[in-house]
Amino acid sequence: MNYPYIDFHTHRPKKTDNHLCIHSLLLEEYSQNSFNFPFTLGVHPWWADEVNEEDFKLLYQRLSKHPLYAGLGEIGLDKVKDDNWQVQVELFNFQLLLAKDNDEAFVIIHCVRAFNEIIKSIKKVGYKGHLIFHDYQGNEEITKDLLKRNCYFSLGKKILNASEHFLKTIDLIPLPQILLESDDHEGIEVEALYQKLSQIKEVPLDELKKQLYINASSLIPYLKIYD
Ligand SMILES: [Zn+2]
Repeated sequence: MNYPYIDFHTHRPKKTDNHLCIHSLLLEEYSQNSFNFPFTLGVHPWWADEVNEEDFKLLYQRLSKHPLYAGLGEIGLDKVKDDNWQVQVELFNFQLLLAKDNDEAFVIIHCVRAFNEIIKSIKKVGYKGHLIFHDYQGNEEITKDLLKRNCYFSLGKKILNASEHFLKTIDLIPLPQILLESDDHEGIEVEALYQKLSQIKEVPLDELKKQLYINASSLIPYLKIYD
């Protein structure tokens, strides 16, 4: 079976027979009415100031009925951009509550230096679905902690030049909890990420493609077209 390369979080989706891309919609793309890729939507913490919660909820109610809707994300918290911190926290909690109320199986999380605050919000809201940390770069300690929870780790271009520390982190994560993503990086091909991960984990490429396909289709059941 020739399983596709899955790019679980991208802003530059492409359509080929060998790829399956999950398009993470940007704010300005929400108003479009036709979608060509499985898509996720959510308000990124950088733009928290620009979005009214009720407006987002209406949009969510409309778009989450679309057959290509895949889930909520990216949402999260970013301490590097802290001039809107309070608004970020409020909007993150609001979106988590939407996820909880609508039984979303997962949320895709943007987290920059805010793991504790993310976990605090998850507990506060009581969201029980999977957390997918996108562009994951956490250290060993954080990773061990997250592995006790319902988490997936979406790895991006950082694995191409992984430091010793980061390699140790990747070592800790079982393959059934890993996804790969190109995000918004021009020139990053998801094939290169697969190649690299197959070396790091010492798993044949075919096996890796199968496992990541299983991971993605267990999160987004309509992706499952192969057995
Ligand atoms: Zn992104």
